[in-house]
Amino acid sequence: MHWIGGKYIEGAAGRTVPITNPATGEVTQQLALADEAVVDQAVAVAAEAARSWSRSSLSKRTQVLFKYRELLDGHRDEIARLITAEHGKVHSDALGEVARGIEVVEFACSIPQLLKSAGSYEVSTGVDVREIRQPLGVVAGITPFNFPAMVPLWMFPMAIACGNSFILKPSEKDPSAALRVAELMADAGLPPGVLNVVNGDQVAVRRLLEHPDVAAISFVGSTPVAQSIYRAGTEAGKRVQALGGAKNHMVVLPDADLDLAADSAVSAGFGSAGERCMAISVVVAVGGIGDELVAKIAERAKGLRIGPGDQETSDMGPLITAAHRDKVASYLPSAREQGAEIVLDGTAEQVGPEGAHFLGVSLLDKVSVDSDAYRDEIFGPVLSVIRTETYAEAMDLVNSSPWGNGAAVFTSDGAVARRFEMEVEAGMVGVNVPIPVPVAYHSFGGWKASLFGDHHIYGSDSVHFYTRGKIVTSRWVAPGAGLEMAFPTNS
Ligand code: NAD
Repeated sequence: MHWIGGKYIEGAAGRTVPITNPATGEVTQQLALADEAVVDQAVAVAAEAARSWSRSSLSKRTQVLFKYRELLDGHRDEIARLITAEHGKVHSDALGEVARGIEVVEFACSIPQLLKSAGSYEVSTGVDVREIRQPLGVVAGITPFNFPAMVPLWMFPMAIACGNSFILKPSEKDPSAALRVAELMADAGLPPGVLNVVNGDQVAVRRLLEHPDVAAISFVGSTPVAQSIYRAGTEAGKRVQALGGAKNHMVVLPDADLDLAADSAVSAGFGSAGERCMAISVVVAVGGIGDELVAKIAERAKGLRIGPGDQETSDMGPLITAAHRDKVASYLPSAREQGAEIVLDGTAEQVGPEGAHFLGVSLLDKVSVDSDAYRDEIFGPVLSVIRTETYAEAMDLVNSSPWGNGAAVFTSDGAVARRFEMEVEAGMVGVNVPIPVPVAYHSFGGWKASLFGDHHIYGSDSVHFYTRGKIVTSRWVAPGAGLEMAFPTNS
């Protein structure tokens, strides 16, 4: 089903994909994938809706957004349960995702302030200049499986607040939370057609990329897809922001609080089963702390309770699909062959029922920088440790990574932390904070292969991304001011 024009649309019978509960392996629905005709229908409806929504008053937009914020607040638990049922993350984690999404809606409520323009009075005699920002028209968002509610909420509240209409193409692995948050927008009073959800795969994405009436694309997903979407979208003349994958390092200096560092490594490495773009996947132990730090991380990781996300006793849920679980597990033998010491082997025993997608936690020590476990974004509960002698070696390692999403330093030395902030090549930096996801009024985005495009997502960058600037120069003169043939100068 697709959500188009404020109602559910079936689309022609065609390709489907099964949606699975990763904690049981049970297929819960067959999702119909959009063909090109469904995408065209959504674009036509969105383009029509944008005509009036782009002229809606800022007061009307904020009324809808305030109401939407209240509705999301009242449905936190329901949305979190939808997330857990299809993604598998534990309920408290799903609630956290919804909370971070709501923060973006709260930021979007300040749209009248955000769209206030600058101007200059009397730039020349009788001449004034004003900047205005106008919506783009129809904007599309393509989102990944790992934050099925939050990442869509990073996009459409701001796009819509700016006066655009929006087509969301959520992940075909866990689409239900996205559909529910879209429905609630209608309950908040958003006119039909301003927000639409098209369920689909690459066929739908390709059509959105080539459709002449789609002005801009916000994408979040893996690096290869982000890069290809950036290329295809910009070649088609669209504005594109494409956020990609990551391999985030956490540098632990010898003066750090090692208990804090170990707690942080475990929560940021294994939270959400490592399926976070801001997960810590590499701990860099600097100086002589390696043995002690690895022992502390192992002790904590061993105690994690793996189980269904809807059970309060679970700390970590399953992985999204059986294929992904198997791919993550395949890094264990290859890491061993490529010289790593396996401190914890998450593949050693089967967790959960047959058919479910669980995997235990793995901790790899003395990982080689040439190994697959270090070079690939594993996106699972596998944490690597690399040891370096010095801060400089650690910094070289971090900055040699092709990705630059997040990076963290753990230290008690403010001057070194400040040096790290200056030198590290990453878009989001944590100092004694392992997952430095910016709050909604700052923007989120990485460097290097973690982001293609010029704008980060949400925060003030999103106002620029979702609007076009226009400068108006005006002069009101008395009738009969006379003919002036010279190029205008200021006097
Ligand atoms: P993915 O790239 O496989 O899919 C993302 C979206 O793109 C989905 O909607 C999917 O249907 C679509 N898609 C997939 N292949 C496509 C193709 N060939 N052509 C067109 N569209 C295609 O990513 P995923 O597995 O859903 O999510 C995990 C990835 O997302 C990880 O790499 C993670 O780091 C990244 N991620 C990044 C951020 C960030 O902010 N940088 C946030 C969350 C996730």
